[in-house]
This record gives sequence, C-alpha cells and structure tokens, in this order.
Amino acid sequence: MTDREDRPARSLETRLVGLDGFLCPHTGAVVPQIHPSTTFARNGVDYAQVGGRGYTRDENPTYLLAERLLAELEGGAGALLFASGMAAIATLVQAHRPGDHMVVSSHMYFGTPKYFKEWARPWGLESDLVDPGDLDAVRAAIRPGKTKLVFVESPANPLWTVCDIAALAEIAHAAGARLAVDNTVATPVHTRPLDLGADIVMHSATKYLNGHSDVLAGALVARQADALWEEITHLRYLAGPVLGPFEAWLLVRGMRTLFLRVRHQSAAALYIAGCFAQHPKVEQVCYPGLGDFPGHAIAAKQMSGGYGGMLSVRVRGGADAALGVAKRCQVWQRATSLGGVESLIEHRYTIEGPDTPTPPDLLRLSVGIEDVGDLVTDLAQALDGV
Ligand SMILES: *Cc1c(COP(=O)(O)O)cnc(C)c1O
Repeated sequence: MTDREDRPARSLETRLVGLDGFLCPHTGAVVPQIHPSTTFARNGVDYAQVGGRGYTRDENPTYLLAERLLAELEGGAGALLFASGMAAIATLVQAHRPGDHMVVSSHMYFGTPKYFKEWARPWGLESDLVDPGDLDAVRAAIRPGKTKLVFVESPANPLWTVCDIAALAEIAHAAGARLAVDNTVATPVHTRPLDLGADIVMHSATKYLNGHSDVLAGALVARQADALWEEITHLRYLAGPVLGPFEAWLLVRGMRTLFLRVRHQSAAALYIAGCFAQHPKVEQVCYPGLGDFPGHAIAAKQMSGGYGGMLSVRVRGGADAALGVAKRCQVWQRATSLGGVESLIEHRYTIEGPDTPTPPDLLRLSVGIEDVGDLVTDLAQALDGV
C-alpha cells in the first residue's frame, strides 16, 4: 500500500481497515473490488501487457491487494499467495534442489515434517528434524555449504513450545543458510519474524489471517526480493498453486479485522489458561503466556501484545479421559483447524495417528470470540465428568 506523500504514516491497523490507495476512486466504494478475470487484454499499439498483467496464474489485482497487505503486515519486500499453507511450503521446498539440505524443527504443525518425510526426501532433498530450542543441536545439524534453510514454527503445534527466532537467524546466516518461520499461530499481530532476522515467513492464511474458517489459503513473505524469491515467484507461475480471486478477496475481508480478532483471542486464551492451570483434572496447561511455561521468557521477548489464541490442555487419565472431555463440550466444537471466530477443541493424537509425538492426553484448543465466561463454564463442566 502506498501512502500519498502528503499523508502522515499510519499504523498497520488503520491501513488494513482503510485500504488507502486500493479503493476505487471512480465509485467511492469503501470495500475493494474483486477481479475474477483470468486474462487481461494487451493494448492495440505495440501488443504490450497493460500494467504487467497477462494471466491469472501469474498475477491478479485481487491477489495483489492481499499480497501488499501481507508484505506490510510482516514488513517484507514481497508476499505471494498460494492455494493453501501446504502449497506455500511445497513451493518453498521445490525452489531448492535435490541434494540441498534443510534443518526442520521437530516441533511443528504435523503436516510439515510429514511433507518432508513423504515427499521431499524421496525427491532428493535432505533434511534433519531438530529441536530448535536446543541451539547447539541446530548448529550441529547444519552441514556447511549444503544446508540452505532452517525452518521453524513459534509458538509451535501442539505444545506451543517457543524458539528464539533471532538466535536461530544468526546461526543460519553464519552458515550461509536462510531462516524460514511458520508464523501462522503467532500472527504478525504478536511477532514479526523478519524484524528478528528471519528471511522468509510462511502462513497458513486459512487460520488467523482469514479468521472465519471459510478460505483455504497460504502465503510466503520475503525479507528481500533475492534470487530465491525470484525462483519462488517463477515456480508459482509455472506450477500454478494459486488462490482463486474470490478466495483472495475473502481473505482481504478477513484480514481487515485481524488485529481486533487476534488481540481478543489472545487475551481470552491467557484468561482460560490461567483458569485451568491448577485444575485437579488437568496435568498441564501448555501456553506461552503462563509465567512458569518453559520458553515464557523467550516468548515475552519476541512476542508483543499477547501470546496467541492457541493453548493445549493435558487431561489427567490419558487418551480416554481427554476424549471424554472433548465429547462433553457443547460450546467448543470438536473440529480440526484453528484461528477462526469459533472455538475448537481437538484430540490431536486421533488426527495425527499412532506414530505422532503428540501426547495422547492432549486437547488442542483454538479460542474463538464467544463470551469467555461461556467457554470457561463449558470446559469446566466437561472436565468435571472425568
Ligand atoms: C494449518 C497449518 C498449516 C497448513 O496449512 P493449510 O492451509 O491447511 O494447507 C501449516 N502450518 C500451521 C501452523 C498450520 O496451522
């Protein structure tokens, strides 16, 4: 988004709502336009593209709006939308070469290591899963000259472990590698990894960015428009894992309320975590905002304004007790995913399968925007049945 020069710089919250420079000056519409066109006419003089636009697999004005907003939110040189979070990860990986090596966090959304194991390794990309909380282990896993990327998530699914993005960026850079951060859970409202030294930010925009559980989308944001970014841009154009313009438009609609939603959800999550931390039926509440949570000090350093809307509750009595709690919930809906306005409760062990490191007694909670008292009462009655 380009501010007119005579205007004072405005905060991101104001810019997300006002969409300065992106509204139609001819109609005075206060919401942005949608451009469903897959193709764009060339001019009749020298057959050149108008405004650099040719075909929607490459670019569409509706993507461009979402991408500019995302680049601003994360403080990046550029952003690209993808058909899903996994399509963004797949494109980031495929912009490298077989024989390259990546250090991947052992604490991540389970689909990420699954993708590395089931697709990237057979393709020829080498990778090691390492706990990014152990900086010496990360240093040891890096293969000088071969390691191209370190890829982490913080707070990370589903235990909400926190890693030190600035320290990891230094380690990666010292070895000539880049640091990529899955910022889906923290969101740019609480953490801006590029400001901390990361090179690439990845999002499942399906989650908080859209915020209404009605769009599947992904994004990559780059600190610099370097050779890797060119390769990623070219690969998206070649392979076409793009979003439809309607989804991109819905995503912008969702992003306009990002700050409002995420701040509310983080405050509610902190309150709920505090309510159940000492509960007799609860083994542990995992939430980076709790003072005694391992990693709280790092979270306090690199997150601002809150600790996110995700927490996990480990129920005394194992898998059966945890499943019983989920079954008794009436306000919390039993569904996968996160970051929407509705609160979700999920037994991740059931979803991820028997070879997952996720503990069987764990329930993952995505806090929505319902009345927080109703959420606490519902979870309390569900725990009472244990
Ligand atoms: C959901 C999710 C993904 C995958 O994104 P999709 O949009 O479902 O493809 C990646 N990382 C995190 C942290 C997620 O929550």
